[in-house]
Amino acid sequence: MKKLYFITGSQDLYGEETLARVAEDGREMAGYLSGAVGRVAVEWQPVVRNSDEIFAVCMKASADPDCVGVITWMHTFSPAKMWIRGLQALAKPMLHLHTQYNEKLPYSTIDMDFMNLNQSAHGDREFGYICTRLGVRREIVVGYYRHARVVAAIRKFADTAVALDFSRGMRVAMFGGNMRDVAVTDGDRVESEIRYGWSVNYYGPGDLADIVAGVKKEEVKAKMREYAAKYEMRTDLTEAVEEQAKYEVALRRFIEAERINAFTDTFQDLHGLRQLPGLAVQNIMADGTGFAAEGDYKTAALMAVLCRMAEGRTGGTAFMEDYTYDLTEGGELELASHMLEVSPVFAASRPAIEVHPLSIGGKEPPARLVFDGAPGKAVAVSMVDMGDRYRLVCADIELVTPPEAMPKLPVARLMWKLRPDFATGAAAWIRAGGAHHAVVSTALDAADIRLFAKLTDTELVEINDRTEMPFGI
Ligand code: MN
Repeated sequence: MKKLYFITGSQDLYGEETLARVAEDGREMAGYLSGAVGRVAVEWQPVVRNSDEIFAVCMKASADPDCVGVITWMHTFSPAKMWIRGLQALAKPMLHLHTQYNEKLPYSTIDMDFMNLNQSAHGDREFGYICTRLGVRREIVVGYYRHARVVAAIRKFADTAVALDFSRGMRVAMFGGNMRDVAVTDGDRVESEIRYGWSVNYYGPGDLADIVAGVKKEEVKAKMREYAAKYEMRTDLTEAVEEQAKYEVALRRFIEAERINAFTDTFQDLHGLRQLPGLAVQNIMADGTGFAAEGDYKTAALMAVLCRMAEGRTGGTAFMEDYTYDLTEGGELELASHMLEVSPVFAASRPAIEVHPLSIGGKEPPARLVFDGAPGKAVAVSMVDMGDRYRLVCADIELVTPPEAMPKLPVARLMWKLRPDFATGAAAWIRAGGAHHAVVSTALDAADIRLFAKLTDTELVEINDRTEMPFGI
């Protein structure tokens, strides 16, 4: 299990008795949070009293592969010049917990000793100043540490810290390049690795075709049994479905051998493959492996990171594309889909396997999952490369049940309402340069994305019910 270090700041001024209390209280608090947060262990560290101890614990956290972040808290006053060297060395995300060991004030007994022991209102301000001055990326959570709201905020931090730890070692495969001439899906792969840790590399579709050629009949049969159990078989073209089964077995073999966390393909470069991978990719996406089409490595990688963040929560997270609208005045809806690759995590009911021709790409009709999306609150998150920086655009959206059946539409689809209203939501997204590809999640909310942006120092545009564009800017 990954862990967060719980670091309590103090100083030597108070004497052994007070420091022993500080240690005892901190240990109890870390123990409580460890149980309450759940996803990671919260590991108490000996109280730090001077510059050397602070530097040592920050170095230890930075070097510990199981440590995904630190929680810092000043039980007493801890002069912040002592923190400069340690904070400069700290390479893990930080949560500054502004809390107290006591919830209420002991009005009838409070004396100067109590005040000296419990002075985070004082000490955390001193600590906060130096963090701000040093530009330390951090989350600040305020409140009594046992309150549900505070525990929930720490849990959110833990989810993001685990996701960032994962992000730092991620490997992304591009089968083929970026779709020709497309701007927003392209990006600076070197910068992506510097900022987010994504190692993004090209592989030839022929490499995959070679693995496909080696897939055994029994493996295809087992995959077909899995499909039959999970999905409704709404086609007689068994061979076309078996072709996708082969792709899935081959893709999983490749993913395991190359330790891949996210991948892309493109319909423009499918040498050696008879179909565009559809069903195969859909079934793999459902496991949380990142994917995006047309060589959009940023969306694929972001999907993998956000899936890791959302692990253990209810709801789905996957790649989506804005497609078309119902512009009925006052009831505007967006229809989102893709050529094939929509994840079944969004399905309202059992998806069906269908085979239809694909109008572009010049390949054989591919098998794909077709379904309607389930209703619910969600976010759509897009990462774009602005040339000198990345930008995240995060929109609150409301998934809705399609108002009518679409029997002729041969792909899975989601429908949603934009926030705060159609015109403002769409104009804001377009003004912000948001892509036509996004990661949609019903498991995460804007606060999760805000935290990811904060801890990676990524520019963020949020679109929600408070968004106004009175001057169109
Ligand atoms: Mn697309």
